[in-house]
Amino acid sequence: IKKSGGNHYSFFDIKEKSFIQQRLELESEIFQAIEKDQFEVWYQPQINTETYQVYGVECLIRWNHPEQGIITPDLFIPIAEANGSIKELGYFVLKTACHQLRQWRINNVFTGVMAINVSLRQFERNDLLGQVKKTLIDEMLPAESIELEVTESLFSEDNNYHTPILLALRELGVKVAIDDFGTGYSSLQRLKNLPIDNVKIDKCFVDNIEHSSEDVAIVMATILLSKTFKVGLIAEGIETQEQADKLSELGCFNQQGYLYSRPLRAHDFEDWLTDFTL
Ligand code: C2E
Ligand code: CA
Ligand code: CA
Ligand code: CA
Repeated sequence: IKKSGGNHYSFFDIKEKSFIQQRLELESEIFQAIEKDQFEVWYQPQINTETYQVYGVECLIRWNHPEQGIITPDLFIPIAEANGSIKELGYFVLKTACHQLRQWRINNVFTGVMAINVSLRQFERNDLLGQVKKTLIDEMLPAESIELEVTESLFSEDNNYHTPILLALRELGVKVAIDDFGTGYSSLQRLKNLPIDNVKIDKCFVDNIEHSSEDVAIVMATILLSKTFKVGLIAEGIETQEQADKLSELGCFNQQGYLYSRPLRAHDFEDWLTDFTL
């Protein structure tokens, strides 16, 4: 880090410093932050535009950092995956989300599906299956009430050993969704054999859906595939009513995005839900 004279840093240097240092600092703080309870789980609704029901909720982690405020996962999940803390973080999210779902079911606030993001690394050493079983029992939840969101890379040739774990989870009744569908490298023909229940159409195909015939074609093809292989479908990243209408018109009724709600803390989600169903 260059000093621009004396003890002063130029604006540019400060930015540069914070970029490199932030990563190092976050990396060194992450394990402690788990102990200190600085992570939070936020919730974003999944809506069916035909029935206007909130049928699902995706849980998304946030780091409530004492100095930096709320840090979004794009900044720390890659670090957590690199240093292994993702296993603890992932278990924290699973437990927190299931505990929340249990409360919502008891109070009849929300009785749909809780979608939980799971990293590839959580499949190592077979931790995941035991953690899911234990959590479901602890919270007395039916396995069908949770869905694990995994990315296409889980199904690459190198990761074949993950498939038995996924099969065992589905044997329990746990649902599995492919996240960010269409952005990875899995060929369409492989989709045929994947042990999945749902496909999530990535935001990048939604952004321009009103103006791009290519994106319309991709979405239509995905809808056709999902029907043929009898898996569910949801589009994410819907920000405008026009995007929502276009997707519904094409036949993709399950939708998630800022148009409906940003991810919210549990109590804010409860308020949102009350307003939505009124
Ligand atoms: P993702 O699973 O693809 O999640 C969707 C992301 O898009 C979320 O960002 C969500 O807040 C954001 N989003 C939802 N609707 C809209 C919209 O209409 N417009 C825009 N611009 N964005 C929208 P977030 O919460 O920052 O999470 C980023 C990524 O971090 C997630 O992408 C997921 O890959 C990862 N992540 C989040 N929580 C967890 C977790 O608990 N475990 C793991 N392993 N990864 C997580
Ligand atoms: Ca996701
Ligand atoms: Ca996604
Ligand atoms: Ca994503």
